[in-house]
Amino acid sequence: MFIEIEQVLIDRHRIARRVREMAGAIAADLAAISAHEGSSVEDRVVFVPIMTGAMIFAADLVREMPIKLSLELVAISSYPGQSVVSRGARLASELPRDLAGKHVVVIDDILDSGQTLDLVRKAILTQNAASVRLCVLLRKNVQRVVEVEPDYVGFEIPDAFVVGYGLDYDGYYRNYPEIGTLSPLAIAQHPPAT
Ligand code: 5GP
Ligand code: MG
Repeated sequence: MFIEIEQVLIDRHRIARRVREMAGAIAADLAAISAHEGSSVEDRVVFVPIMTGAMIFAADLVREMPIKLSLELVAISSYPGQSVVSRGARLASELPRDLAGKHVVVIDDILDSGQTLDLVRKAILTQNAASVRLCVLLRKNVQRVVEVEPDYVGFEIPDAFVVGYGLDYDGYYRNYPEIGTLSPLAIAQHPPAT
């Protein structure tokens, strides 16, 4: 079924371990804010996964979070259709309302050009969130179009197009449980519409 995967870069066990560590780091930072403010932030924590790529990562991450939180989804479109290059980020859904005073953790699958996270972060800041943190599973080693410094990074990866664990090519491979590169054959059979 997944013969088009060329090479597994990060297997499911490494992903699971790292997701647990990241949840621990986020929980520790939120506990530090609570201590600083002198009251628990638990009823003001909102996780904002960016659809659709972050759905698998976010589903695993939030279940490792040992605190109360709420979830609000946003959709951004950046690699439409059969594309392996970012075409710039565009908001494809409404932004969550009522983020004023909330501690927001934006979750994305991968940081590439930086346009997606920059757009979402700025949009959330205009709603007077108390804090906005950025959490990505993967950071690609490329020259960014917009400089973005995530607060939490799962893995650094080379400049390759990856699929699996939520990441797609032309809508497929999101359910592949590891993170891998796609064979040139698979891309040749469904060439990017550039
Ligand atoms: P950016 O706006 O930082 O260029 O891109 C972020 C979005 O582009 C990610 O949320 C992801 O959906 C998509 N993206 C970037 N690199 C890759 C990749 O290697 N594989 C896949 N499947 N999507 C990617
Ligand atoms: Mg995405």
